Amino acid sequence: MQYSIPRGTYDILPEDSPKWHRVIAEFRKLVEAYGYAEIVTPIFEQAALFERSSGESSDVVKKEMYRFTDRKGREFALRPEGTAPVARSYIENRMDIGSSYTKLYYLGPMFRYDRPQAGRYRQFYQYGVEFIGSNNPYYDAEIIAILWNYLTGLGLKKLHLELNSVGCSVCAKEYDKALRDYFQPYLNQLCPDCQERFERKPRRILDCKVKECGDIAKKAPIQLDYLDEPCREHFSEVQHYLDLMKIPFIINPRIVRGLDYYTNTAFEVIYEGIGAQNALAGGGRYNGLLNQIGGKNIPAVGFAGGFERLFLSLNEEKITLPGPPFPEVFIITIGREAQELIIPYLNIIRVKGIYAEYEPDRASLKAQLKAANNSKAYYALLIGEEEIKQKSALLKNLESGEQKLYSLEPISDLIKTIQNKEL
Ligand code: AMP
Repeated sequence: MQYSIPRGTYDILPEDSPKWHRVIAEFRKLVEAYGYAEIVTPIFEQAALFERSSGESSDVVKKEMYRFTDRKGREFALRPEGTAPVARSYIENRMDIGSSYTKLYYLGPMFRYDRPQAGRYRQFYQYGVEFIGSNNPYYDAEIIAILWNYLTGLGLKKLHLELNSVGCSVCAKEYDKALRDYFQPYLNQLCPDCQERFERKPRRILDCKVKECGDIAKKAPIQLDYLDEPCREHFSEVQHYLDLMKIPFIINPRIVRGLDYYTNTAFEVIYEGIGAQNALAGGGRYNGLLNQIGGKNIPAVGFAGGFERLFLSLNEEKITLPGPPFPEVFIITIGREAQELIIPYLNIIRVKGIYAEYEPDRASLKAQLKAANNSKAYYALLIGEEEIKQKSALLKNLESGEQKLYSLEPISDLIKTIQNKEL
C-alpha cells in the first residue's frame, strides 16, 4: 500500500524551505517595524465561530468548510481564515483592556474545500495583519501600506491595488434594496444559488462565478453610489492617506469580498500573469465583526494573503529567493584516530552556529574530497596522520585552493577564520 498526499495539499520540500523562511522573515521584519506582534491561534475552532462571523450563507461556510464532530459531539471546523479566530482571541483574552489599539499579525495554514487549481489549494498558508481599536481611515491606509510595501519590497512589479467601499450596515440596506430592484426582472435567469442570494444577500450575486449571473450583474448599481455621508468621507480620507504614502490604487466598485463582516474599505492586490486565481491578498475594514461574535462594538481593519500565489508571482518575474545553504566547512578524516580527534571539536563548531558537514561513511580521502566539492562547501577541514601528531587540522579554501594549518587547542582561531571567511 502506498499512501499519497490529500488532493489540494502539498509538501514543502527541503529544497524549497529556505524560500519560505525568507518570505516569512521579510514579512515579520516589516510588520514588526509597524509595531505588530504575532498571535498564534489553534488550527481548529468551534464551527459556530465561522458561521457567525463569515455568514452562514457565505461560500466559505456553506460549501468550503472542513467540519468535524469530536468524540463528545462538539462541532468544530478547521479554520478557513484567520480573522475570526484572532477576533475570538481578542475578546476572550480581553485585549481591549489597558490599551486602545491592538496590532496583531499571524501566519499559518488555512483550510477550504474548494476545487484545486493553480493558486488554489485545500490547505494554504496565509500571512495576515489585523489592527483593532480605531475607525480612523488612517489605519485603513496603514494596513494597505503594509501589504503593498511587503509585496513590492520582495521585488514584484506586475501588481496593482484595487480599492472599494462597501459602506456600513446603514448604507448597505439602501444598496441591497437597489440591487433587488435591479435583479427582480432577471430573477428566473439567475442560477439557483443566486436566486437564494437575492433575498438574503443580493450583494453576493455580484460575486457569482456563473457566466449568466455575471453578465446580468454587469450593469447592476454599485455600492459607491449608495454611500451615506460618513462612509463617503471615510472612503475619501483613505484615498487621501494612500496618496500621502504614495501608494497607487484604482477604484474597483465590483470588489465585494467573500465574507459578510466587511464594512467600508475593501481592497485586493491583483497580480497579472498567474491565471484565474490572481488575488495575491485582500482585506478591509470589519467594524461589525467583534460585536457580532460577542465582543464590544470595536472597529478593526486587516488583510490576509496567501504564500502560494506569492511564489507563483515571484516565479513569474524570475525573482530568485535563496535555495538550500551550502556547508561552511566539510570535515575530512583519514582513519579512526583522526575521527576520534575531531568529533569533539565538530560539536563545538556546530554549536557556534557554523554549518559543518561530516560523512564518516566515506573512507578514502578522494571520496571525501569529492563529496566536499559536490556539497559546494566553502572550506574543507582535513585531519590526517600529520595533523593528528600536532593536534591540528588543515583548513582548505575549496575555491582558491589556499590552505593553512590550525591548532585545535584552543580552537577559537579556527572558528574565527571560518566565521569571517578569512582564508
Ligand atoms: P480571502 O480570505 O479569500 O480573501 O483570501 C485571502 C488570500 O488568501 C487570497 O488573496 C489568496 O492569496 C489566499 N487564498 C485564499 N484561498 C486560497 C486557496 N484556496 N488556495 C490558496 N490561496 C488562497
